[in-house]
Amino acid sequence: MWIKGATVSQLRFRRLYPPASAPRGPVLWVLLRGADVLISDDRRVLHPGTSDDPGGIAVAERLLLGALEDTPVLAGGLDPEAPIPPGFQAVGLRTLLAEAEPQAASLAVYAAQLVRWQQIGRYCPSCGQPATPIEGTWGRACPSCGYSSYPPVSPAVIVLVHDGDRALLTSKPGWGKRYSLVAGFVEPGETLEECVVREVREEVGVEVSELSYVGSQPWPFPNQIMIGFLARYAGGEIAIDTAELADARWFERTALPELPPPYTISRQIIELWRRRGPAPADPRAAG
Ligand SMILES: [Zn+2]
Repeated sequence: MWIKGATVSQLRFRRLYPPASAPRGPVLWVLLRGADVLISDDRRVLHPGTSDDPGGIAVAERLLLGALEDTPVLAGGLDPEAPIPPGFQAVGLRTLLAEAEPQAASLAVYAAQLVRWQQIGRYCPSCGQPATPIEGTWGRACPSCGYSSYPPVSPAVIVLVHDGDRALLTSKPGWGKRYSLVAGFVEPGETLEECVVREVREEVGVEVSELSYVGSQPWPFPNQIMIGFLARYAGGEIAIDTAELADARWFERTALPELPPPYTISRQIIELWRRRGPAPADPRAAG
Protein backbone atom coordinates (compact mmCIF):
# COMPACT_ATOMS: atom_id res chain seq x y z
CA MET A 1 0.00 0.00 0.00
CA TRP A 2 3.09 2.15 -0.23
CA ILE A 3 5.03 2.71 -3.39
CA LYS A 4 7.28 -0.26 -2.69
CA GLY A 5 4.52 -2.51 -1.34
CA ALA A 6 1.29 -4.07 -2.56
CA THR A 7 -0.64 -2.09 -5.14
CA VAL A 8 -3.88 -0.59 -3.90
CA SER A 9 -4.25 1.06 -7.30
CA GLN A 10 -5.05 -2.30 -8.88
CA LEU A 11 -8.14 -2.57 -6.68
CA ARG A 12 -11.45 -0.92 -7.48
CA PHE A 13 -12.57 1.73 -5.00
CA ARG A 14 -16.27 2.57 -4.79
CA ARG A 15 -17.41 5.62 -2.83
CA LEU A 16 -20.20 5.31 -0.28
CA TYR A 17 -22.18 8.11 1.31
CA PRO A 18 -24.05 8.60 4.57
CA PRO A 19 -26.03 6.94 6.01
CA ALA A 20 -24.17 3.86 4.67
CA SER A 21 -22.37 2.00 7.44
CA ALA A 22 -19.65 -0.63 7.46
CA PRO A 23 -20.76 -4.18 8.25
CA ARG A 24 -19.00 -6.02 11.07
CA GLY A 25 -15.78 -7.64 9.98
CA PRO A 26 -12.38 -6.59 8.69
CA VAL A 27 -11.97 -3.06 7.37
CA LEU A 28 -9.12 -0.76 6.37
CA TRP A 29 -8.53 2.53 8.15
CA VAL A 30 -6.98 5.79 6.98
CA LEU A 31 -5.90 7.60 10.13
CA LEU A 32 -5.61 11.38 10.34
CA ARG A 33 -4.15 13.49 13.10
CA GLY A 34 -4.75 17.17 12.41
CA ALA A 35 -3.47 17.82 8.88
CA ASP A 36 -1.20 14.76 8.96
CA VAL A 37 -1.77 11.17 7.91
CA LEU A 38 -0.56 8.35 10.15
CA ILE A 39 1.50 5.79 8.28
CA SER A 40 2.89 2.62 9.81
CA ASP A 41 6.60 2.17 10.31
CA ASP A 42 6.55 -0.12 7.26
CA ARG A 43 5.06 2.89 5.38
CA ARG A 44 1.52 1.65 4.87
CA VAL A 45 -1.31 4.15 4.47
CA LEU A 46 -4.20 1.70 5.03
CA HIS A 47 -4.33 -0.08 8.36
CA PRO A 48 -6.31 -3.26 9.04
CA GLY A 49 -8.86 -3.21 11.85
CA THR A 50 -12.55 -3.68 12.46
CA SER A 51 -15.32 -1.18 11.87
CA ASP A 52 -15.44 -0.23 15.53
CA ASP A 53 -11.74 -0.45 16.27
CA PRO A 54 -8.79 0.87 14.28
CA GLY A 55 -6.32 -1.39 16.08
CA GLY A 56 -6.77 0.02 19.57
CA ILE A 57 -6.30 3.65 18.48
CA ALA A 58 -8.83 6.16 19.83
CA VAL A 59 -10.52 8.16 17.06
CA ALA A 60 -12.70 11.22 17.64
CA GLU A 61 -14.25 11.06 14.16
CA ARG A 62 -15.05 8.01 12.02
CA LEU A 63 -16.41 8.11 8.47
CA LEU A 64 -17.09 5.36 5.97
CA LEU A 65 -15.32 6.42 2.74
CA GLY A 66 -16.29 3.45 0.60
CA ALA A 67 -15.09 -0.01 -0.29
CA LEU A 68 -11.87 -1.24 -1.82
CA GLU A 69 -13.25 -4.21 -3.73
CA ASP A 70 -15.29 -5.72 -0.84
CA THR A 71 -13.35 -4.27 2.07
CA PRO A 72 -14.83 -1.17 3.72
CA VAL A 73 -12.43 1.76 4.06
CA LEU A 74 -12.95 4.10 6.99
CA ALA A 75 -11.40 7.43 7.86
CA GLY A 76 -10.50 7.91 11.49
CA GLY A 77 -9.72 11.37 12.82
CA LEU A 78 -7.65 11.36 16.00
CA ASP A 79 -7.68 14.24 18.40
CA PRO A 80 -5.06 16.59 16.86
CA GLU A 81 -3.33 16.77 20.24
CA ALA A 82 -3.28 12.98 20.73
CA PRO A 83 0.16 11.36 20.92
CA ILE A 84 1.27 9.49 17.80
CA PRO A 85 0.49 5.80 18.46
CA PRO A 86 3.50 3.47 18.74
CA GLY A 87 4.46 1.94 15.38
CA PHE A 88 3.17 4.97 13.43
CA GLN A 89 4.53 8.23 12.13
CA ALA A 90 2.69 11.38 11.06
CA VAL A 91 3.38 12.63 7.53
CA GLY A 92 1.96 15.54 5.54
CA LEU A 93 -0.16 15.07 2.43
CA ARG A 94 2.64 16.43 0.24
CA THR A 95 4.90 13.61 1.37
CA LEU A 96 2.13 11.10 0.67
CA LEU A 97 1.48 12.49 -2.80
CA ALA A 98 5.19 12.30 -3.53
CA GLU A 99 5.81 8.81 -2.23
CA ALA A 100 2.64 6.76 -1.81
CA GLU A 101 0.98 4.62 -4.37
CA PRO A 102 -1.55 6.87 -6.22
CA GLN A 103 -4.77 5.26 -5.00
CA ALA A 104 -3.52 5.07 -1.40
CA ALA A 105 -2.58 8.75 -1.61
CA SER A 106 -5.95 9.70 -3.09
CA LEU A 107 -7.78 7.81 -0.34
CA ALA A 108 -5.75 9.76 2.22
CA VAL A 109 -6.60 13.03 0.44
CA TYR A 110 -10.29 12.09 0.42
CA ALA A 111 -10.19 11.12 4.08
CA ALA A 112 -8.41 14.34 5.09
CA GLN A 113 -10.94 16.51 3.24
CA LEU A 114 -13.94 14.71 4.71
CA VAL A 115 -12.62 14.80 8.27
CA ARG A 116 -11.96 18.52 7.85
CA TRP A 117 -15.45 18.95 6.38
CA GLN A 118 -16.95 17.46 9.55
CA GLN A 119 -15.40 20.40 11.42
CA ILE A 120 -16.00 23.28 9.02
CA GLY A 121 -19.41 22.16 7.71
CA ARG A 122 -21.08 21.80 11.08
CA TYR A 123 -22.87 25.14 10.98
CA CYS A 124 -24.83 26.86 8.26
CA PRO A 125 -22.50 29.40 6.57
CA SER A 126 -25.50 31.63 5.88
CA CYS A 127 -27.26 31.88 9.25
CA GLY A 128 -25.02 30.01 11.70
CA GLN A 129 -27.53 27.38 12.82
CA PRO A 130 -26.36 23.75 13.17
CA ALA A 131 -26.70 22.04 9.77
CA THR A 132 -28.00 18.51 9.30
CA PRO A 133 -26.76 15.78 6.92
CA ILE A 134 -28.32 15.47 3.46
CA GLU A 135 -28.86 11.77 2.95
CA GLY A 136 -26.90 10.08 0.19
CA THR A 137 -24.26 12.84 0.10
CA TRP A 138 -21.62 14.49 2.31
CA GLY A 139 -23.66 17.68 2.14
CA ARG A 140 -25.44 19.48 4.96
CA ALA A 141 -28.64 21.45 4.92
CA CYS A 142 -29.76 24.16 7.28
CA PRO A 143 -33.15 23.38 8.88
CA SER A 144 -33.55 27.07 9.64
CA CYS A 145 -32.88 28.86 6.32
CA GLY A 146 -32.63 25.92 3.88
CA TYR A 147 -29.08 26.72 2.70
CA SER A 148 -27.17 23.59 1.71
CA SER A 149 -23.44 23.15 1.47
CA TYR A 150 -21.03 20.42 0.41
CA PRO A 151 -17.35 19.62 0.98
CA PRO A 152 -15.53 22.49 -0.73
CA VAL A 153 -13.65 21.90 -3.97
CA SER A 154 -12.07 24.97 -5.61
CA PRO A 155 -11.35 24.68 -9.33
CA ALA A 156 -8.11 26.20 -10.58
CA VAL A 157 -6.59 26.04 -14.06
CA ILE A 158 -2.94 25.33 -14.78
CA VAL A 159 -1.58 25.92 -18.26
CA LEU A 160 1.56 25.40 -20.30
CA VAL A 161 1.88 28.12 -22.93
CA HIS A 162 3.89 26.80 -25.88
CA ASP A 163 5.30 28.36 -29.00
CA GLY A 164 7.00 25.85 -31.27
CA ASP A 165 9.98 24.50 -29.38
CA ARG A 166 9.71 26.81 -26.41
CA ALA A 167 7.47 26.97 -23.35
CA LEU A 168 6.61 29.92 -21.16
CA LEU A 169 7.39 29.06 -17.55
CA THR A 170 6.99 31.12 -14.41
CA SER A 171 8.72 31.36 -11.06
CA LYS A 172 7.27 32.68 -7.81
CA PRO A 173 9.11 34.54 -5.07
CA GLY A 174 10.91 32.00 -2.87
CA TRP A 175 11.13 29.29 -5.55
CA GLY A 176 14.78 29.93 -6.28
CA LYS A 177 15.67 28.53 -9.71
CA ARG A 178 12.51 26.43 -10.05
CA TYR A 179 9.98 27.26 -12.76
CA SER A 180 6.42 26.03 -13.25
CA LEU A 181 3.23 26.90 -15.11
CA VAL A 182 0.73 29.74 -15.06
CA ALA A 183 -2.10 28.83 -12.68
CA GLY A 184 -5.05 30.48 -11.01
CA PHE A 185 -8.49 30.05 -9.54
CA VAL A 186 -11.64 30.00 -11.63
CA GLU A 187 -13.79 33.06 -10.94
CA PRO A 188 -17.58 32.86 -10.52
CA GLY A 189 -19.38 32.88 -13.84
CA GLU A 190 -16.26 31.99 -15.80
CA THR A 191 -15.64 29.01 -18.10
CA LEU A 192 -12.39 27.08 -17.71
CA GLU A 193 -11.33 28.33 -21.14
CA GLU A 194 -12.00 31.96 -20.19
CA CYS A 195 -10.05 31.41 -16.99
CA VAL A 196 -7.01 30.11 -18.90
CA VAL A 197 -7.01 33.14 -21.23
CA ARG A 198 -7.48 35.57 -18.33
CA GLU A 199 -4.88 34.03 -16.02
CA VAL A 200 -2.25 33.97 -18.75
CA ARG A 201 -3.04 37.57 -19.66
CA GLU A 202 -2.98 38.73 -16.02
CA GLU A 203 0.12 36.84 -14.93
CA VAL A 204 2.40 37.09 -17.96
CA GLY A 205 0.71 39.54 -20.33
CA VAL A 206 0.46 37.35 -23.42
CA GLU A 207 -2.44 36.01 -25.48
CA VAL A 208 -3.19 32.34 -26.07
CA SER A 209 -5.36 30.28 -28.41
CA GLU A 210 -6.01 26.62 -29.30
CA LEU A 211 -6.52 25.41 -25.74
CA SER A 212 -6.51 21.69 -25.12
CA TYR A 213 -7.42 19.89 -21.93
CA VAL A 214 -4.74 17.57 -20.56
CA GLY A 215 -5.98 16.21 -17.23
CA SER A 216 -6.68 17.14 -13.64
CA GLN A 217 -5.34 16.57 -10.16
CA PRO A 218 -6.90 17.10 -6.74
CA TRP A 219 -4.58 19.41 -4.83
CA PRO A 220 -5.56 19.37 -1.17
CA PHE A 221 -3.83 22.60 -0.05
CA PRO A 222 -6.50 23.15 1.06
CA ASN A 223 -9.06 21.94 -1.50
CA GLN A 224 -8.23 22.73 -5.13
CA ILE A 225 -8.83 20.64 -8.20
CA MET A 226 -6.14 21.61 -10.70
CA ILE A 227 -7.40 21.45 -14.30
CA GLY A 228 -4.54 21.21 -16.76
CA PHE A 229 -4.32 22.73 -20.24
CA LEU A 230 -1.93 23.29 -23.10
CA ALA A 231 -2.36 26.59 -24.93
CA ARG A 232 -0.64 28.01 -27.97
CA TYR A 233 1.05 31.42 -27.73
CA ALA A 234 -0.89 33.88 -29.84
CA GLY A 235 0.93 37.18 -29.38
CA GLY A 236 2.17 39.82 -26.97
CA GLU A 237 5.33 40.44 -24.98
CA ILE A 238 5.90 38.97 -21.52
CA ALA A 239 4.90 41.43 -18.80
CA ILE A 240 4.71 39.77 -15.40
CA ASP A 241 2.37 40.45 -12.53
CA THR A 242 4.98 41.25 -9.90
CA ALA A 243 2.47 40.73 -7.09
CA GLU A 244 2.36 37.03 -8.00
CA LEU A 245 5.51 36.20 -9.91
CA ALA A 246 9.24 36.69 -9.57
CA ASP A 247 9.94 35.82 -13.21
CA ALA A 248 8.47 34.42 -16.41
CA ARG A 249 10.41 33.52 -19.52
CA TRP A 250 10.61 31.26 -22.54
CA PHE A 251 12.64 28.07 -22.27
CA GLU A 252 13.72 25.87 -25.14
CA ARG A 253 12.49 22.28 -25.01
CA THR A 254 16.06 20.99 -24.70
CA ALA A 255 17.08 23.49 -22.02
CA LEU A 256 14.35 23.45 -19.39
CA PRO A 257 15.15 24.79 -15.92
CA GLU A 258 14.62 23.13 -12.54
CA LEU A 259 11.01 21.87 -12.55
CA PRO A 260 8.36 20.94 -9.95
CA PRO A 261 8.47 17.38 -8.53
CA PRO A 262 7.20 14.48 -10.70
CA TYR A 263 3.96 13.90 -8.76
CA THR A 264 2.60 17.37 -9.61
CA ILE A 265 0.30 17.95 -12.57
CA SER A 266 2.47 20.92 -13.56
CA ARG A 267 5.46 18.61 -14.05
CA GLN A 268 3.31 16.03 -15.82
CA ILE A 269 2.06 18.65 -18.30
CA ILE A 270 5.61 19.86 -18.92
CA GLU A 271 6.80 16.28 -19.51
CA LEU A 272 3.89 15.60 -21.86
CA TRP A 273 4.81 18.66 -23.91
CA ARG A 274 8.50 17.80 -23.80
CA ARG A 275 7.83 14.25 -25.09
CA ARG A 276 5.33 15.26 -27.74
CA GLY A 277 7.45 17.66 -29.70
CA PRO A 278 5.89 20.66 -31.42
CA ALA A 279 2.19 20.21 -32.16
CA PRO A 280 1.64 19.03 -35.78
CA ALA A 281 -0.57 22.03 -36.54
CA ASP A 282 2.15 24.43 -35.45
CA PRO A 283 3.16 26.38 -38.59
CA ARG A 284 6.58 27.19 -37.11
CA ALA A 285 7.26 23.49 -36.57
CA ALA A 286 5.93 22.57 -40.01
CA GLY A 287 7.92 25.28 -41.71
ZN1 LIG B 1 -29.06 28.62 7.65
